[in-house]
Amino acid sequence: MGLKVYINGKLYPKEEAKVSVFDHGLLYGDGVFEGIRCYNGHIFKFSEHIDRLYNSARAITLEIPKSKEELKEAVKNTLKANNLKDSYIRLVVTRGVGKLGLDPFNCTGQQLIIITDSIQLYPKELYKKGLDAFIVPTIRNHYEALNPKIKSLNYLNNILAKIECINAGATEGIMLNKDGYVAECTGDNIFIVKSNEIFTPPTYAGILIGITRNVVIELAEKAGMVVKEEQLTRYDLYIADECFLSGTAAGIIPVVKIDGRNISSGKPGKVTLSLLKKYQELTKQCSE
Ligand code: PMP
Repeated sequence: MGLKVYINGKLYPKEEAKVSVFDHGLLYGDGVFEGIRCYNGHIFKFSEHIDRLYNSARAITLEIPKSKEELKEAVKNTLKANNLKDSYIRLVVTRGVGKLGLDPFNCTGQQLIIITDSIQLYPKELYKKGLDAFIVPTIRNHYEALNPKIKSLNYLNNILAKIECINAGATEGIMLNKDGYVAECTGDNIFIVKSNEIFTPPTYAGILIGITRNVVIELAEKAGMVVKEEQLTRYDLYIADECFLSGTAAGIIPVVKIDGRNISSGKPGKVTLSLLKKYQELTKQCSE
């Protein structure tokens, strides 16, 4: 039995799950999305993801044609219909079909799409070995242009960064903001460890407020570690004791090289590995 995809209240076989070529989501990237994990039947940080989706939608004056509770039910039903206990859930809301031309107000009928599938962002061995990152030339979107807090369908900023890091032979791209401070990676938030303290860029650096980022901060503080949300420069990354990334798809993954330079010993650090273990335990036992 193949995968079924939810579109506007109906389930379609994967091959028949389609939207119009006149959908402004396709024509202009006009829409929003979320990526959520379901671990052993429990949807991790479900409310937080739903809240962020509604905030992204509000920021672009897109009305989601369902209440939060109804949407949660639709997600659960889609998982059930696909008989999935472990899944990566992609929620997409597009502006819908309209005329050619940017005007979003001539679009009729937002498309609400729920895909329940799987994702493997980085190869498994990198969770043990750590990955190499590259600080890319393209800066993160200015928050007064397209605020990175909005998880919009327009991910070209991040895709350009991804192209640059792949061309440089690295696995992940680190993006700076317009002031030269570290913002985030193409699809993950970034942390460093220095002298047993944990640092991550503040939300005003112009980043997506990662739900995994918040979980990491909580886990670290619970374990008695100091976490500081501070502006970081390229220098801070180069002299860090440890570095790691966080995201729904990635989880927590160590970074051992930046711009060809080893981070400390060039091996995943002990703070990173202890947080990775705590995160894995949490997702194993998570419940809504
Ligand atoms: N930054 C960006 C640009 C992202 O797209 C994502 C999500 N893939 C993240 C950070 C991590 O956010 P979260 O932990 O909520 O998945």
